[in-house]
Amino acid sequence: MGESDDCLFCAIISGRIPSEKVYEDETTYAFKDIHPKAKVHVLIVPRHHYGSVAELAKSDPAELAHIVEVAQSIADDAFHGAYRLVFNTGRDAGQSVFHVHAHVLTGETLDE
Ligand code: 5GP
Ligand code: ZN
Repeated sequence: MGESDDCLFCAIISGRIPSEKVYEDETTYAFKDIHPKAKVHVLIVPRHHYGSVAELAKSDPAELAHIVEVAQSIADDAFHGAYRLVFNTGRDAGQSVFHVHAHVLTGETLDE
């Protein structure tokens, strides 16, 4: 389903590369970031390959809204609903994997 060759996150979603699953459903997969920047650091991705959050917003806004709901529910469980949601967009902003992903940072009080 929209899988891109040599995309790290497509490989993780398909199970070819192992990951620590946090949540999954028909359209969406969530797993622990391998280099956590907070006590709880989860990446949420659509199963379908989109390169950026702007591309996702344009092509499937309902999926973007769903990713926010999943983030909320992870933070409800981890830290009374408080979280930071980050979409790095573009290499110069720190995006290193070009399959859209939401970083959910939660589980502890976050610095500004
Ligand atoms: P970006 O820099 O594109 O916003 O975020 C990519 C994230 O993917 C980084 O936070 C990085 O730690 C994480 N990451 C990179 N490779 C892997 C991997 O193989 N497994 C997991 N679970 N996370 C990864
Ligand atoms: Zn991909």
